[in-house]
Amino acid sequence: MKYVVIKFGGSNLKSREDLFRIIKVLKSYDRPVIVVVSALYGITDRLNDALRRIQKSRKEIKEIIVFLKDTHLNIIKQYIDESEKQKELCKRIEVRIEELEKKFKGINYFGEVPDFVHDWVLSFGERLSSLLLCSLLNVFGIDATEALPEDIGLITDGIFNNACIDFEASIPTVQKTLSENKTYIIPGFYGVSKEGKVTLLGRGGSDYSAAAIARCVQAESLDLWKDVSGFSSVDPQILNNAIPIKKLNYSEAAELSYFGAKILHPQTVEPLLHHSIPLRIFNINTFSGELQPVTYIADTKVITPSIIKSVTYSDDFAILELNGPGVGIKPGIMAEVTTILNEYDINIKSIITTQTKIKLLLSKSDIDKGYQLAKSLHLITLDEIKTEDDISLIAVVGEGILNQPGIAARTFQAVFTRGINVRLISAGASDVAIYFIVSKNDKIQAVKAIHEEFFCNIEKLNIKEEINEI
Ligand code: ASP
Ligand code: MG
Repeated sequence: MKYVVIKFGGSNLKSREDLFRIIKVLKSYDRPVIVVVSALYGITDRLNDALRRIQKSRKEIKEIIVFLKDTHLNIIKQYIDESEKQKELCKRIEVRIEELEKKFKGINYFGEVPDFVHDWVLSFGERLSSLLLCSLLNVFGIDATEALPEDIGLITDGIFNNACIDFEASIPTVQKTLSENKTYIIPGFYGVSKEGKVTLLGRGGSDYSAAAIARCVQAESLDLWKDVSGFSSVDPQILNNAIPIKKLNYSEAAELSYFGAKILHPQTVEPLLHHSIPLRIFNINTFSGELQPVTYIADTKVITPSIIKSVTYSDDFAILELNGPGVGIKPGIMAEVTTILNEYDINIKSIITTQTKIKLLLSKSDIDKGYQLAKSLHLITLDEIKTEDDISLIAVVGEGILNQPGIAARTFQAVFTRGINVRLISAGASDVAIYFIVSKNDKIQAVKAIHEEFFCNIEKLNIKEEINEI
């Protein structure tokens, strides 16, 4: 029988009821499953912050160690009263935390954090949550075994902080080690390079870990248990008439995630394509015992009457603009700029060119560096290099968007009638998405305008309080 791979998020283990919900979920599968976990809520950020502080101050070591112990041991104490059992589990967690303490001392001594140490330390959020969950499940009668990525051979391309899985190397080892038909608990967020170094899969990467493992074992499905209601026609924090989306295809889910929907890590669907493994999203808070997903993602294309399934946005885009007569036709400029950005690990999210301008979309956190690098090339064909970062990207996503006449016109009409200026448009690069850039201040109004145009009767709209920063 094929495995189902299940992923629980960091917020799934907060209150006393949470563990019992997880147990109920696991029992409902009625067979062994592979469980991937992310760190407890906020732990990865705390570890990151601690790394920075520990370089300068030794007393920070104690602070983070106490915090990690308190957070994890308190959860054990919530669930287990029997003192011997409680002590035994606490000891296991403490031993793992002590491994970390030794590295922290080294970091403080040398005052530096090499990349391989950074990734190793940040992987501890997940290493601790997997040990915690596995130990608690065992106490409550679920036969589960912890399996670390280094033990199952989840091999990456070796890029620190943002690695991809090397499937050719991983498939045989993962298949072999997870072959015992029992329930495994695996920490997400990291794999190991061929040389055995821990490499992180990018922030939010546990979804991607789970998808990668699903591909390796050719799982029946990948089930992500979240504490939100899957994908919807708009962010429910902006509008309270957001419509849940029951079905999406892989490309729609990937584009929505890439353009800001915070449900999935954007790379999650990629490993699933190879064996058409369905991705099912569940809301753990509304679980009633039946395995009924809130959103089902597969390779079937569904065209809905509105064509657009969702409007989404992201603030994490900034524009690097290169101006000069003929930049669009002179060979070499683009190559020089993209090469230097690549050398410094700056990801180019999109490029739009005309005769006199090249506009590169970068992450906000990369824009200053990107600007300095472009300047450092001293390209004589460029008159000016500019940046803009007070912008938001808005995307409309839906199968059939490019083939159906009038969808783009309706989208922009809705935005223009609110007097909103559109700074840049891209259509055609993706079969299922059109995106454009507006000033950050206009973002919420633009999203609302489009949602009204495609999903509602304006009079019936019940608009929630405006929120500008989400
Ligand atoms: N714990 C990691 C992060 O916060 C990975 C994850 O949550 O998926 O980015
Ligand atoms: Mg997460």
